[in-house]
Amino acid sequence: MEEFECKEHGQKFQDAKALEQHNSSKHSKPPKFGDNLKKIQIPKSVFAGVFLIAVAAILIYYFSAKPVSAQSTSIDGIQCNSLEGSAMHIHPHLTISSNGNNATVPADIGILSTCLYWLHTHDASGTIHIESPTVKNYTLGQFIDIWNATARYASSFDPSSLSNAASLTVYVNGNVYNGNYRNITLLDKEQIKMVMN
Ligand SMILES: [Zn+2]
Ligand SMILES: [Zn+2]
Repeated sequence: MEEFECKEHGQKFQDAKALEQHNSSKHSKPPKFGDNLKKIQIPKSVFAGVFLIAVAAILIYYFSAKPVSAQSTSIDGIQCNSLEGSAMHIHPHLTISSNGNNATVPADIGILSTCLYWLHTHDASGTIHIESPTVKNYTLGQFIDIWNATARYASSFDPSSLSNAASLTVYVNGNVYNGNYRNITLLDKEQIKMVMN
């Protein structure tokens, strides 16, 4: 009698058809590669996790980069940069007399620990350094605003007192300037003298 036996299980069957059924149900061929791929399902939670990690990374980058850019709070459109501008470099000179005494125009007006404004002083000589990345006109008002914002406590003279002076006479290269002193264009080797009482 012919035997219908499963070689793997050692199980015996009555006829060829029964063995064939057994083989097809228990020993079906392994699924093709493509079939396997379709069955790999990525849970939505994994997508959500990856998305959250990406958002967190962007936020961390954004906020860690923020303090660096905060240094460059511009004053009257004048930026504070880590390097001195090289397109324009001129030196007007400012003298201030208050009630008959020379007031000090201090060093380091416009110079912070991390950056320099395009208008600044390096010493207390009254020399204003304009070191700008672009060539354009700057005004005495802009310099005084930077002074007020960056160095007002470095000097016994408070530049905001200029606007409250009972009388103020301004000279440019020895000539009386009759307009608003804030509008004086700063030029190389220009001598500006402010006499307040
Ligand atoms: Zn400089
Ligand atoms: Zn200079």
